[in-house]
Amino acid sequence: MSADQPAKPQKHEAFQTPRGVHDILPADHEYYTFIKKVVRHRCRQAGFRRITTPMFEMTEVFKRSIGDASDIVSKEMYTFSDRKGRSLTLKPESTAGVVRAYIQNRMDLWPQPVLLYYIEPNFRYDRPQKGRYRQFWQFGFEILGESDPALDAQAIMLVTRIHKDLGIDALFELQLNTIGTAESRAKYVQVLRDFYAGKERSLCEDCKVRLTQNPMRLLDCKQEDCMILAKLAPAMKDSLDKESLDFHNELKGYLDEVGIEYKENDKLIRGLDYYAKTVFEFWDKNEGAQNAVGGGGRYDGLVELLGGQPTPGMGYSGGVERVIANMKREKIRVPAKDDLHVFVAQLGNEAKKKCLKLIEEMREAGLKTMGALGKGAMNVQLRLADKFKAPYAVILGLTEVREGVAIIRDMKRGVQEKVKMDKVVERLVELIGEENLDIYSPGELLYS
Ligand code: AMP
Repeated sequence: MSADQPAKPQKHEAFQTPRGVHDILPADHEYYTFIKKVVRHRCRQAGFRRITTPMFEMTEVFKRSIGDASDIVSKEMYTFSDRKGRSLTLKPESTAGVVRAYIQNRMDLWPQPVLLYYIEPNFRYDRPQKGRYRQFWQFGFEILGESDPALDAQAIMLVTRIHKDLGIDALFELQLNTIGTAESRAKYVQVLRDFYAGKERSLCEDCKVRLTQNPMRLLDCKQEDCMILAKLAPAMKDSLDKESLDFHNELKGYLDEVGIEYKENDKLIRGLDYYAKTVFEFWDKNEGAQNAVGGGGRYDGLVELLGGQPTPGMGYSGGVERVIANMKREKIRVPAKDDLHVFVAQLGNEAKKKCLKLIEEMREAGLKTMGALGKGAMNVQLRLADKFKAPYAVILGLTEVREGVAIIRDMKRGVQEKVKMDKVVERLVELIGEENLDIYSPGELLYS
């Protein structure tokens, strides 16, 4: 058994992770690291800077922005009181916190638009199932302070670029809609209320509530009877004002220009109150919305809703666990950066001393090196080198110390060579190949 093929978890252990959350073990961290690198690289290229807001906020931040009638606020938040009785909530999504931070830190005084990205965990009391957890990671970004369909197009281009880098772009289909300005939405809500009047009995219990609180959510209910009615319901586009229509047509023109395919979906509304105009999601081509990998949209009224000046905004967030599941489904392997290069085996106190210095030199040269515990016979140590999948072992015993040499063993081929102590690092670098060395050393980049 190894770290890359973990055993089945013990079910009878006294302590287990709470339902719906899981440990991220080293093999999966290779994926998290890779995704983080891709996101960071592409966001940076597009002028975004990273932000991390606290893991919890005053509950009101989420209630006000996401909306009381949303699934998130009504049933999915982890809300608790602190010792002074203040109501706090673990972040169920990231946009609300970023917008709160924009206002609180006077980012309105920064050059606009303010471009921010994040990679962080979110918490939702969702029903755990495949691809749905109670703690999950999201990467995402927000564009605040400017409204232009070209920004919406650029956001979609950025996501597409990231999906390409991750090798999953062909699996997803961009679903696109506009839910218009607040004014055209108000008009449409009335149209929907009129349509559903007298049909309440055919709706599911949730939708009966939605009809009074947020009728647009009736359109994306997954219950069969509700879906049949939603199909018959008047379309949003007939209620759109000129501003919303022009904005949407311009966005589509830009997407056509850069060759990004989309499917217009006038039932796509996204569950949160704060969206306006553009909404979009990336749906699994086979499973549809169920396995969506991410979504976003424009939220021009949100900054004002949280107490700031009227400020346009838009953003996207994608689920990291779902990206990983799709990468695995496609058998996409990420660079195994954690794999060892060298295992050092030694016998005797003198050898142990010599080894420590050698190990330090090897690591400095970028060789990922482990060993020098000196427990057990040489063959036991070499078996350990095999278990840790080190391609090379350095062997140092009493004779070698006396002769001022070390043995380098090719673990796969089982052949070995004697090398002078001061040439060991050089020879190993040659064997591993300079391009494979781990020489990233952030400490060297500090300015003073
Ligand atoms: P949303 O804003 O709710 O559409 O979430 C954006 C993305 O986050 C989704 O498309 C999923 O990829 C991911 N996501 C949302 N909720 C969960 C969850 N409970 N578990 C895992 N991933 C999730």
